[in-house]
Amino acid sequence: AKASGGHLTVYSPELDERAEAAERLGADLRHSLSDGDFHVVYQPIVELSDGHTVAVEALVRWQHPVRDQVSPACFIPVAEDNGLIVELGEWILRTACAQLARWRRDRGAEAPGYISVNVSARQLSEPGFAGVVTAVLSEHGLEPSALLVEVTETAIFGGGVAIEAVEALHRAGVRIALDDFGTGHSSLGLLRTVPVDVLKVDKSFVDEITEGGRAVIVDALIHVSTGLGLRAVAEGIETAEQAAYLRALGYEYGQGYYFGKPAADLSPLTTSHHTAAG
Ligand code: C2E
Ligand code: MG
Ligand code: MG
Ligand code: MG
Repeated sequence: AKASGGHLTVYSPELDERAEAAERLGADLRHSLSDGDFHVVYQPIVELSDGHTVAVEALVRWQHPVRDQVSPACFIPVAEDNGLIVELGEWILRTACAQLARWRRDRGAEAPGYISVNVSARQLSEPGFAGVVTAVLSEHGLEPSALLVEVTETAIFGGGVAIEAVEALHRAGVRIALDDFGTGHSSLGLLRTVPVDVLKVDKSFVDEITEGGRAVIVDALIHVSTGLGLRAVAEGIETAEQAAYLRALGYEYGQGYYFGKPAADLSPLTTSHHTAAG
């Protein structure tokens, strides 16, 4: 491959191809938004002590008209680049709020306590974003604390408008989580300057538990979290061993395939659906 050295960009057919592919994907996204090819799935966030679902995280899915499902890790960055994430993100938020309102109607006290929705940097820097969020909540009869907005460290690292949006949301009563905590432009100082309620501890740190038995970072982060009065949620728990280990460290909440994969709906109501975990 022809490399680019320093600030000089050398012509590269590979780069061209990649840019073209992204552009095509962006155009497909646009069509899919009007054609209704997106849907939202929900993954339980559970109490580690008994496996009880306390909340769900909304995750978008794209059924591409000709390809197989395209992963959000692949298309969200494209939607951020071409700005479509603003419209798509608002649709995701509306869909998730409508779903929580429906669960409350159908399940009453058995409905998840709140929904967690991922929000990208581009959405946060859209003027009036916090106002849109609170309007959507009230359209669905939801109180602000029914929503938790997940942002990444990287999204708010630049400061400025994105942090102002986070502050406005927080003032309105919407709770804030730092997603994939520890993997972005991390600075523990961020936890002092940004109003954060929840730390979502990244799967890569949870993986260490089963990889070598020395899970230094999950151990450190539960202390940081508890010390600052934050709620910690461990992400990507895949085994009983990981769940038990995290619980022993003091984690109260977790999320991962071990407890439930993202799905279009919650499992049907049964009289005793609490499964012991860990
Ligand atoms: P995230 O917000 O950190 O979401 C967690 C991801 O980990 C999800 O992938 C989820 O399906 C996956 N996951 C959960 N438990 C496990 C597990 O036990 N093992 C493994 N291997 N994976 C697990 P997904 O849905 O593919 O989303 C990837 C990323 O794309 C998300 O990471 C988030 O950054 C972004 N994303 C997804 N949906 C949205 C959305 O609606 N809006 C925005 N802005 N970003 C989204
Ligand atoms: Mg997330
Ligand atoms: Mg995450
Ligand atoms: Mg992640």
